[in-house]
Amino acid sequence: MISHAPKKVRTDLNPSRLITFKIDDRDVTARADESILTIARQNGINIPTLCHLDGLSERGACRLCIVEVRGATKLLPSCVTFPRQDMEVVTNSPRVVTYRKKILELLFTERNHVCSVCVSNGHCELQNLAVDLGVDHVRYTYLYPRHAVDASHPRFSVDHNRCVLCLRCVRVCDEIEGAHTWDIMGRGITCKVITDLNQPWGTSETCTGCGKCVQVCPTGALSEKGRSVAEMIKRRQFLPYLQMMREKQEESWQK
Ligand code: SF4
Ligand code: SF4
Repeated sequence: MISHAPKKVRTDLNPSRLITFKIDDRDVTARADESILTIARQNGINIPTLCHLDGLSERGACRLCIVEVRGATKLLPSCVTFPRQDMEVVTNSPRVVTYRKKILELLFTERNHVCSVCVSNGHCELQNLAVDLGVDHVRYTYLYPRHAVDASHPRFSVDHNRCVLCLRCVRVCDEIEGAHTWDIMGRGITCKVITDLNQPWGTSETCTGCGKCVQVCPTGALSEKGRSVAEMIKRRQFLPYLQMMREKQEESWQK
């Protein structure tokens, strides 16, 4: 199993140093330790993401936030790429959009995302991204894996068919709730999220039942039992608040 350290920012970058660079031909000035994703959003430029969530550490896992950086042959994930003086970033070029669509299509082929029978239908981040990017069909072969639904928890259930492995659940449970109930097991196509030692969620002795993992899940993979499609709308506003309170508490401990 992988250990997930608490949220960390790049400590090798000088937060007081200001960098001037270009995003989409626009001159911007930003701190050296802010990611290109953060700076773009601060400047009103939307970059799509699935694994990023304000208040959680970055994983650079979904790759949907890729951007072009002049001089770099590869597309770079903007959530874990930091600006350099005079860098030129393009967030929405035809090449970037093409690869974002491919990534989404591959996500749809890896699991069984049947929206019509999903509790998150109509308010799912994966579905919304497909609509935004115009992904109305998939050119790759569906894998149709046989994934289980674990409904052993008294209040929540996990449907691995809907999971996109963004690891938001793993990070919020570890970094915000401090329970570290969720983890990941396996690699590549066999990777899956697990509770405790890969046991039914309902038998977990670490889960506090707070529901934070359910609220941050971008799809219908984690849901509350007894909720209809209209009711299963995720509430994420608590994250920045909890993070701020935690930082304040840590500061008071250090005094
Ligand atoms: S309900 Fe809370 S403690 Fe339990 S797995 Fe989810 S985030 Fe962790
Ligand atoms: S269960 Fe939800 S939050 Fe957790 S990794 Fe899968 S999609 Fe992400």
